[in-house]
Amino acid sequence: MTDSFFQTGDLVGVLTTQPINRVLDYKAPEGGCRIGDFVEVPLGPRKVLGVVWGAGKGDYDISKIRSVVRVLDVAPMREEMRVFLQRAAEYTLTPLSAMLRLATRAPGLGDAVSMRKVYRLGGAVPDRMTEARTKVLDVLRDYGGLSFTLGEVAEMAGVGTSVVKGLVKLGAVSEEEAPRDTPYPRLDPDYGGKALSADQAKGAEMLRQALRSDHYGTTLLKGVTGSGKTEVYLEAVAEALRMGRQALVLLPEIALSGEFIARVEERFGMRPAEWHSGVTMTERRRCWRMVGQGDAQLVVGARSALFLPYQNLGLIVVDEEHDTSYKQEDGVLYNARDMAVLRAAINGAQVVLASATPSLESWANVESGKYQRLELTSRFGAAVLPDMTAIDMRAEALSSGEWVSPSLRAKITDRLEKGEQSLIFLNRRGYAPVTICRACGHQIGCDQCDARMVEHRFLKRLMCHQCGETKPMPTVCPSCEVEGKLNAVGPGVERMGEEVAGLFPEARIAVLSSDLYGSARAMKAHIEDIAKGGADIIIGTQIVAKGHNFPNLTLVGVIDADLGLQGSDLRAAERTFQLMRQVAGRAGRAEVPGEALLQTYQPEHPVIRAILAGDEEGFWAAEAAERRGAGVPPYGRMAGIILSSTNVQEVFDLGGEMARRDAPLRQIGAQVFGPAPAPIARVRGRHRVRLLVKAEKGAPLQAALSEWVGQFRLSSNLRMAIDIDPQSF
Ligand code: ADP
Ligand code: ZN
Repeated sequence: MTDSFFQTGDLVGVLTTQPINRVLDYKAPEGGCRIGDFVEVPLGPRKVLGVVWGAGKGDYDISKIRSVVRVLDVAPMREEMRVFLQRAAEYTLTPLSAMLRLATRAPGLGDAVSMRKVYRLGGAVPDRMTEARTKVLDVLRDYGGLSFTLGEVAEMAGVGTSVVKGLVKLGAVSEEEAPRDTPYPRLDPDYGGKALSADQAKGAEMLRQALRSDHYGTTLLKGVTGSGKTEVYLEAVAEALRMGRQALVLLPEIALSGEFIARVEERFGMRPAEWHSGVTMTERRRCWRMVGQGDAQLVVGARSALFLPYQNLGLIVVDEEHDTSYKQEDGVLYNARDMAVLRAAINGAQVVLASATPSLESWANVESGKYQRLELTSRFGAAVLPDMTAIDMRAEALSSGEWVSPSLRAKITDRLEKGEQSLIFLNRRGYAPVTICRACGHQIGCDQCDARMVEHRFLKRLMCHQCGETKPMPTVCPSCEVEGKLNAVGPGVERMGEEVAGLFPEARIAVLSSDLYGSARAMKAHIEDIAKGGADIIIGTQIVAKGHNFPNLTLVGVIDADLGLQGSDLRAAERTFQLMRQVAGRAGRAEVPGEALLQTYQPEHPVIRAILAGDEEGFWAAEAAERRGAGVPPYGRMAGIILSSTNVQEVFDLGGEMARRDAPLRQIGAQVFGPAPAPIARVRGRHRVRLLVKAEKGAPLQAALSEWVGQFRLSSNLRMAIDIDPQSF
């Protein structure tokens, strides 16, 4: 008997996924259990999912302690995973139970009543239909012949499980044994490798050696788009497979995963496991279980794939590591890039951070020797980074309602004549960012948020980009009630589409924006069509900046290169630099050289100049010096505290009190700034204020923050979110 095994009746501590941030005592069930087992335990009148976390504390009336109901038939949670969740909870100052929820987001896992049964539409029609019954049958009908667990059906229909069971008795829903999960096909590491360039071969060898060391390490794999980074890190994946270790590739956008999966199939002969919001529940359940049994060798996924129960994780690749979508901004606030490094350090795994434009954080970690650097210097197949020039908009003749400068028009005409593609980039969804009344000057805003409504002509509605609320475009001004005076101000991509169609009536024009598609699949199909030459001019938001491959594209025109430089965010320069380089990198992938033109009103702005000069090292060094001077990340530590309430007075009162009673922070030399209205001061009817805490690099920030916020009681109306390493400051 090992000490991690508990006999029937022994006291065990179980961490549940419920928001009680405590490990609770239970008695081990018939047959015993061990640390890491997934279990079902009674909690009040319910049965809930938990994990055996250790021995029970026994500081509770023993006669009241209940028994674990049963041990679930899934691989137990490994020690590394428990340590990872613990450390991640400590780092992000999140309750451990919330971390466990991230790790158990496999549908059906917590479905205690019937793990082995699945439900689908039956033949019979009940005599008596209720609203709840109709919902269940509608949901199952919507999903055709697919089957789901009891909990899934109930959740999708928004009814209790008893309704579903009732329908089973009547024959309207059929109940079957769940099929065993089919394992993923084996990937062959030696299937389709390409002959590598000398640069690539050296890089691949460096990564293979790092993997074979069996120790943790992080490599920043840097190189312009098209330099062959993917090819290199796939060699690292191959090595992990040969060693019998699992690999995970994180991508920032699920829209990109199709292209990537095809590439994996080419390289390894089979498709990998996928984990993201576009994957069906059945498939996700399969993925979770297979990963836990070590039967999925490679997972391609979104940031939440970090929380899968890997048995033997050897490699994590974070592609486009600088991408801001790696930061989860809802619920548990974590940055997947940082969590990947944490997870790998615990597992003795390697991390590869790939980017053409690394984050300043990663750049600084290379400088300080924490990460090794691997650089691919030339573009694969000889093409070089496009020429970048500014178009000084102060010198261009444009009427109101026009945004494509005469200089840019001339270049597009030239490409049309040569049969090459052009891309017009504007990082703004919708038709127009502002709708203003010409009679009274009123701007239409969201009722719930401190934000303007954006006109989406394609959807024929106004939309709030904060809360997603939409409403029909009014014909009468909501303020002065004058009719017919509402006017679109400023461009969005949809409006650019209109302008460009007017300028080039013969050209085939494609507007690429996430709003214009019903599904990720439809978007993917459209992108593939464009890549094959289905459009002459592409107009797009930042979705085109990310990794898509347009071989015939030779011109990029940026409509408003200054857009990201407005505002006071200290990261604005970094973001603009990355985005502009990324967009420019779309041009000239194949043999044809590319050209990028930036429309700007401030061509002498230092960031614009650094972009044009292509002086990356110079840019980073200047940016680093500035951040070091200001004592902000990556050279100092920061946390944001967001307080929100429907009552504006209440949030400012508490914010003010927190700023005054800051002794725990002062003890570690940290400073509090604020309270100030948060970057978006009202969202979904809740007023938000933000306090920013700044500390020195080595300071024990989390401990001080816990002690500090622990001093205050929140009314039921108030919410507090702590954001370690906020995106904007
Ligand atoms: P990155 O990830 O840096 O953007 P990729 O790995 O996607 O670059 O490579 C760019 C293009 O060049 C891809 O189409 C890829 O298939 C091709 N490529 C890269 N390396 C090789 C190679 N060694 N042999 C043949 N084609 C290659
Ligand atoms: Zn809103």
